[in-house]
Amino acid sequence: MSKAIQAVRGMNDLLPDVCERWQHVEATAREVLHAYGYREIRLPVIEKSELFARSIGSLTDIVEKEMYSFEDRSGENLTLRPEGTAGCVRAGIENGFLHNQIQRLWYAGPMFRHERPQKGRYRQFHQIGVEAFGIESPDLDAEIIMMCARLWRALGLDGLTLQLNSLGTLECRMAYRSELVRYFESQRGKLDEDSLRRLDKNPLRILDSKNPAMQDVIAAAPSLMEHLDDASRAHFTKLGDYLRQAGIAITINPRLVRGLDYYTRTVFEWTTDRLGAQSAVCAGGRYDGLVEQLGGKPAPAAGFAVGMERLVELMALQGDKHPGTHPDAFVVLLGEAAEKQGLALAERLRNAGLRIECNCGGGGLKAQLKRADRSGARLALLLGDDEVRNASVTIKDLRDGTQRSIAQSELIDLLHKETSRGITP
Ligand code: ATP
Ligand code: MG
Repeated sequence: MSKAIQAVRGMNDLLPDVCERWQHVEATAREVLHAYGYREIRLPVIEKSELFARSIGSLTDIVEKEMYSFEDRSGENLTLRPEGTAGCVRAGIENGFLHNQIQRLWYAGPMFRHERPQKGRYRQFHQIGVEAFGIESPDLDAEIIMMCARLWRALGLDGLTLQLNSLGTLECRMAYRSELVRYFESQRGKLDEDSLRRLDKNPLRILDSKNPAMQDVIAAAPSLMEHLDDASRAHFTKLGDYLRQAGIAITINPRLVRGLDYYTRTVFEWTTDRLGAQSAVCAGGRYDGLVEQLGGKPAPAAGFAVGMERLVELMALQGDKHPGTHPDAFVVLLGEAAEKQGLALAERLRNAGLRIECNCGGGGLKAQLKRADRSGARLALLLGDDEVRNASVTIKDLRDGTQRSIAQSELIDLLHKETSRGITP
């Protein structure tokens, strides 16, 4: 036997049991997003590398060391998308749906980052993302945060904390930057290699360091909050008011700068203490300058992305109950006459909106009942010579083993009663 090939490190197969949990989260998220008027957009997984350098920022972890970039056969520099915002803005400019318009959009799909794989951190991971364009006022920031809160409620999740900060405008960030550089210069001896490199080029990024040894120096650094311009301060205050009115508890975290350069004013993260080091389940903020930075006419914007793997893991830890996708009934076919009629019978039941798994490939009663058990169906429908002759079916309840015979003409009504589903699609 030749050696079996394994999946790429950090890229996971999601097996059917796990997929059912994902489908539940995805379906719930879709409902919540649609309840706020957000519409789906589907974007390519590959973009030109330059798009990410120009939007995420060339001195961020993502662009410096995490991107899957390659040259394609025609020599173009391309990258597997590490996040969704850049592509969404690119699409908006290209298709002309941003200028002077309000757009509320969402997307879902895989993202790729060459990170060190560990629990909650993978090389292919999945996000549900939201981007809203054309609204400058903090009611929008409040809306997207309230939408997150509704999603947690709809999923039955508790214990998520909203961390909130304001990065102000680009101008006030520059003033803050000089003070920050002065501070970190005075602490040079305590800075790690990454931070020393960032000190000249992008000192705010030091605040985003994940190095535990750096956390004390970072905690004592001057706070951006004290440098906010008046308009940004007013924006932040109003956002706080909206959230309090909505009953959403806020933790202001002045060190929250986020891993991407394009944010302005509001930034936020939803975190949990149940997932160890990978504590952020959702992150986002406002990025009023990005559309222009990518070559479009200026348009304010805000958005967030939910990390699906972390969210699903959190659901699993809480012992979530999700509806499976198992069939309502399994059709057991015994003998030639039954096999002849079986596929057609199963089709009639499916026409009535039922989920039916039909035995294929023959087999004795015992083997077929084993398959029926494994299918997850609660009922087995037995069709043998007698049943064919009488136009009946024997129904076996696979949980308690009871059995009864009914006319085929009554089968659909009975199955609709017996299964919680069975609504005609
Ligand atoms: P972290 O600080 O954990 O590295 P990030 O700030 O890089 O996260 P974002 O780019 O804001 O993350 O992405 C939004 C969300 O996507 C995160 O809050 C997280 O839930 C999820 N996420 C990010 N990177 C990964 C990854 N490598 N594996 C799994 N989920 C991820
Ligand atoms: Mg990261």
